[in-house]
Amino acid sequence: TSSDMDAAAFGEQHIAHGIGRLTKHVFEEGSGTFITTDKGVKLLDLTAGIGVVNLGHCHPKVSAAAAAQCSKITHAQVNIGFSSAQITLLKELIPILPDPSLDTVFLWNSGAEAVEAAVKLSRAATKKPNIIVMQGSYHGRTNATASMTRSKTIYGEGHGPFMGGVFATAFPYYSQFGGATPETPTEELVNQSLLQLKLTLQQQTSPADTAAIILEPVLGEGGYVPAPSAFLHGLRKICDENKILLIADEVQSGMGRTGHMWFVEESGVRPDILIFAKGIANGFPLSGIASRKELMDRQKPGSMGGTYGGNAVACAAATAVIKAFRDEKILDNVAARSKQIFGFLHDLKASGTKAGNLIEDVRGSGLMVGVQFANTELQRGSANSAAMHAEIQPQIAPKVVQECVKRDMLLLSTSVFDVLRFIPPLTISEEEMKQACGIFKESLEAVAK
Ligand code: PMP
Repeated sequence: TSSDMDAAAFGEQHIAHGIGRLTKHVFEEGSGTFITTDKGVKLLDLTAGIGVVNLGHCHPKVSAAAAAQCSKITHAQVNIGFSSAQITLLKELIPILPDPSLDTVFLWNSGAEAVEAAVKLSRAATKKPNIIVMQGSYHGRTNATASMTRSKTIYGEGHGPFMGGVFATAFPYYSQFGGATPETPTEELVNQSLLQLKLTLQQQTSPADTAAIILEPVLGEGGYVPAPSAFLHGLRKICDENKILLIADEVQSGMGRTGHMWFVEESGVRPDILIFAKGIANGFPLSGIASRKELMDRQKPGSMGGTYGGNAVACAAATAVIKAFRDEKILDNVAARSKQIFGFLHDLKASGTKAGNLIEDVRGSGLMVGVQFANTELQRGSANSAAMHAEIQPQIAPKVVQECVKRDMLLLSTSVFDVLRFIPPLTISEEEMKQACGIFKESLEAVAK
């Protein structure tokens, strides 16, 4: 009977197949950079649950704060009264947001819900209908966010029709432009992308109809590509000239991931709406948007909110997360470990070995690190007609991931291009990172053979 089944077999039978799954492991416990399975296998976790447990699994202070909140009040419903846990959190959170103008917050549960909230706010505030997204973007799998996601068709296939009024424009990522390579000057990619945006505003959705431009400041699921500072400045200028709001989806790139608390800090470009989730509560469901009061308050009372948004236990966890960033100097560790992994990857790429030669590009910021492989099907700049007719399919990254899994390390691929991403807990030690690099090298060598 089902109740006697092995846990993984039970999962295969009774959990929706539509959830893609990297492994058949059953996670039982997590501590720091490691997860232990129901069979006692200890896994080195370079995924951090897709960039969520930034302080490592079961950070003692975060877990203790959540446990303490559980015996105070777990559900302090926000349409009924203020939540003390939420107010305590916001007193810590607002000062670390990337711009003092972002002084008003709405808390929600998941990243996708927060993106939806940003869309609703920008439409209500501007009284304009349309949204411009980036080619390669990922914003979620709900109906509205699936309509805004342009990283892979699988997120939308068979599920439409979706929300209307969404237009896509170019992100400065060399793989999105024929003939471009990792060596193409950034300035050229930025100019091409800004030109595409100007055309989008003249050919597809006029400024009078465009409420917002939304982007991931580091393109995430689309390939781990940081937006050049000049691109963010260019977007800000076009938004200002056309009364369009700029929305930064920092769901994956935020909360210290890139070595800054928020990636937009690197360029100093101020978004009108900031979206956060994932790392904010280190594994408890919490997300939100921040904007200026004058903008946020254009939505009428009653038009925002929901049963669980800004849950008290999640808020208590998030407060502990922000305190830990300060007390444990997390960003210092991000800087050191980032240097370590980039050094390793650049050396491997330059090594002239078979494994090293598979690497085409190493990029990212902090501990949001992407490795793109030289994919023969893309054959950039070679006017190879066979390549033009082949479907673009990751060839190497999925194999390397499986080799890592065989060696008890969890690592994720991403994008329709051939990209691997390293998103370890930001608390990863020097020794653990060394171990991860070793396993990665062995796995790449196994694929290169
Ligand atoms: N935006 C970005 C940039 C993301 O990376 C994600 C999740 N990968 C989302 C939105 C959606 O978040 P959630 O899965 O919590 O709905």
